[in-house]
Order: sequence, then structure tokens, then C-alpha cells
Amino acid sequence: MSAASQARRRQAADDLEIVAFERGSFTSYSACGIPYFVGGTVKDVSALVVRTPDAFRNDHLIDARIRHEAVELDVARGAVCVLELESGGRHWEPYDELLLATGSRPIRPSLPGADARGIFGIQTLDDGLALHRTMADNPRRAVVVGGGYIGLELAEAFRARDMTVRLLEKADQVMPSLDRDMAVLVADALREFGVDLHTEEPVVGFETSDGRVRAVSTEAASYAADVVVLGLGVAPDAALARGAGIALGDAGGVRVDRRMRTSVDGVWSAGDCAEKWHRVARRWTTIPLGTHANKEGRVAGINIGGGYATFPGVVGTAVSKICEVEVARTGLNEAEARAAGFETVSVTIDSTTRAGYFPEAAPLKTKMVAEKLSGRLLGAQIVGREGAAKRIDVAAVAVWNQMTVDEVLNLDLSYAPPFSPVWDPVAMAARRAAPLVFDDAS
Ligand SMILES: Cc1cc2nc3c(=O)[nH]c(=O)nc-3n(C[C@H](O)[C@H](O)[C@H](O)COP(=O)(O)OP(=O)(O)OC[C@H]3O[C@@H](n4cnc5c(N)ncnc54)[C@H](O)[C@@H]3O)c2cc1C
Repeated sequence: MSAASQARRRQAADDLEIVAFERGSFTSYSACGIPYFVGGTVKDVSALVVRTPDAFRNDHLIDARIRHEAVELDVARGAVCVLELESGGRHWEPYDELLLATGSRPIRPSLPGADARGIFGIQTLDDGLALHRTMADNPRRAVVVGGGYIGLELAEAFRARDMTVRLLEKADQVMPSLDRDMAVLVADALREFGVDLHTEEPVVGFETSDGRVRAVSTEAASYAADVVVLGLGVAPDAALARGAGIALGDAGGVRVDRRMRTSVDGVWSAGDCAEKWHRVARRWTTIPLGTHANKEGRVAGINIGGGYATFPGVVGTAVSKICEVEVARTGLNEAEARAAGFETVSVTIDSTTRAGYFPEAAPLKTKMVAEKLSGRLLGAQIVGREGAAKRIDVAAVAVWNQMTVDEVLNLDLSYAPPFSPVWDPVAMAARRAAPLVFDDAS
């Protein structure tokens, strides 16, 4: 819908007819707000909807049709087959330009019982509403399978409802986007919040009766569950593109160029379903983030509307709040940097969100990863209490601009006791990393 709005700004309704098909019941919603809706912080689902189909129709002259699923694409004819979910009818809708923005879908394990009722993958607001509805039955035991950030945010939401929450993770850490030494802090926060966290305990199946999940099994035990959430990550939903012969990339998303054009003339793609150029790893990848999706939608919409815009790629900046800690990352973590072929140095520093003597100064840990010899900042991670996470944006700008740790340590960053120590944590980490860059022993 970002793309549709941008295109409409450039072309009047007489010149460009815009139709949007949405399988679900909502347009322009914040999926990111779902955990807060499930947990009860957000009371009304309508608060998560930025613009309804009526608003699109009346204010933007965009014909947004909900409960309409695109089921097939014929790029030779320039038409998309649409299933009207209420009536069951189908029709072929012709187009001159088509944008594929189908997002991603939660990964569902191929394990016995994985399709049972009561097991939720969360991607759309309809998914969130379905999960919220089950809260009315007052479930007491939740099991979250997988420790990605969506699973963790929902584990917190269930705890906020005073439920018993078990989190089962196959790996030896939660939050795979962090290095293990930083992820440990998130695991501590979860346990402190009352989540019963089991790492290195893969799920082997789901026990069901009457088509409903009753328990989650591992090699070690069987855990009773009234509700199960899958936090195994998401995969780009590129099925329509694949079916139409549109090129996909190695990461499984729709391959696009910098203007968001696909391999087929007149077909564009943006958001989670499209691959992104990672500016540090220097490869195409999929990173499912609303920040990227919105920017890509804008670029696609400007181009479809006859303008010219390009999307320069991403550095993978993300923040999240898990129980009492804020978690942030940008660029590559140490493991990713090594996998990408960089020789790295890394430092981890402890600091505070305000001057140490100031009331409510809270701890935060910053990890910085730089390239050996060049000193180029490759990535940073921050875990800490309130006030920690958004500091990542300074590091994100530095990573984006290929700055060295020497340059970062000298940045003219702001300071007053209520806001930070005199050495900002990001600058402080750079200061520690700088001498190691040329140190053979590091
Ligand atoms: C619980 C949760 C928390 C999140 N938190 C954050 C956060 O804090 N920060 C952040 O940056 N990102 C966050 N994200 C990720 C962010 O929501 C996504 O990256 C973003 O929504 C992607 O936008 P999109 O338009 O590509 O896809 P979506 O928002 O998923 O939209 C795609 C739409 O296409 C529809 N659709 C799919 N196939 C068809 C079809 N064949 N026909 C018709 N319609 C179809 C779907 O129903 C869906 O509504 C979160 C996601 C979730 C689920």
C-alpha cells in the first residue's frame, strides 16, 4: 500500500487506475504491534490499522479489495487470477504494471501434528487476531517453538497475561541475529521474566486430540500446551512469482534490481518477498523488516507512477524489546562477518544509559565488530535496559557509510548526564576496538 500511495501521488485517477488485492481482512496494518495486542498493551485491533480499504478508496482513489487472493499470474497475458474468498468466485484482472508484495510466511516445521488447531504462525494481522481470540478461552499454558524475535516477543506477551510459558529452542542460544555472548543477556531477561527457556532442545512433534494441539514433544519431555506459537522465522512468500516463471534469487526471494523491477517487464516486487542487497555482506539476502518494506514500497511506487527512484540496499538494522531488555543490531555480527570472509576484531564493553552517577542509569552492553587492518566498522550489537537500543542508529549510519572505528570514536556525539556517559557507548566501543585493528595478537 506504500507503493500504491506513492504511485497515486504521481498520477491522477484518470491516468492510473490502482487496484490492490489483499487476502486478509486488513490493509496497511502494523504487524509489529501484534505482540502488544496479544499481551494486552494495545486494547483495540483498530489501533494497529493505519488506513482502511474505505480510506484508500475515498481519500486516495485506490481500489483496495480485502478477502481477495491472487492465486495465479500470467505474465504473457498481463493478468492475475483473483479468488474472491467470500463468494468463491474467480476472475482474471488485467494489468499494465503489477507489484508483488506478498510478504513472507512463518516457517512451519514438517513434524507430526504441526497443522493442528492451536498452533499459530504469526505474520498477518488476521493471524494476530486469531491468536488474540484464543485468549478469550483463558489458556494457561503456552509453548513457543523457536527463539526468533517474534517468538520471544510473544513469549513476553503470554507472560504479561500471567500464563505459564515454555520456550523450546534447538540451538544453544535464542535470537540468532545476535552473537551468542550477547544473546545470553536476552536469555537471562527471559528467565528473569518467568519464561521457562530450554535451549538445545529441538521439538520432535506435537501431540493432538480432536485436531487440537495438547502438548509439544522433545526427546527429553512432553510439555502440555493450550496454545503454541511458532517462532522459527519466516520465508519470503514468492509462490506467485515462482509459478509465473519470474526469477528468484539464491535466498529464495523475488530477484529485483535497484528500482524494484523483477526479471519480467512490467512486474515489480517490494517488501519481505523481495531480496535485498546487503551493503556489508555484499550479497543478495532476505531480511523481513517493516523498515525495509516501507522504503522499497515507496521506491516501487515512485517508479510505477512514472518517476525515478532507487533502493540502495540494507545493513540489517533492527531493534526489539524482550521483557526488560532492549536489543539492537546493525551490520554483521561476528559470526556473519567471518562467514562473509572478513577477518575481524571484536570488542564488548559495559556502559550505562546515563552518566553512571545519574538516577536510573541502567546497564548496557555494546559489541562492535570491525575489519582487521582497515578498521572498517562491520557491525554492532547492543543489549541493555531502557534507553539502550536506539543508540544502534549511530552505529547504523557509520556502518552504512563504511566508517572506520577511528572515525567513529571521534564523532561529535551529544552528551549530558541524563542522556549518556561522557563517552557515548558506541564511541566507547570504537575507542576500545581502534588499537586492536592493527594488533596481530587480536
Ligand atoms: C509479530 C511481528 C512483529 C514484527 N516486528 C517488527 C518490528 O518491530 N520492526 C520491523 O521492522 N519489522 C517487524 N516485523 C516485520 C514486518 O511486519 C514485515 O517485515 C512487514 O510487514 C513486511 O511488509 P510486506 O508488505 O512485505 O508484507 P506484509 O506486511 O506481510 O504484507 C503482505 C500482505 O500480502 C497479503 N498476501 C500474501 N499473499 C497474497 C496473495 N496471494 N493475494 C493477496 N494477498 C496476499 C498478506 O495477507 C499480507 O497482508 C514484525 C512482524 C511480525 C509478524
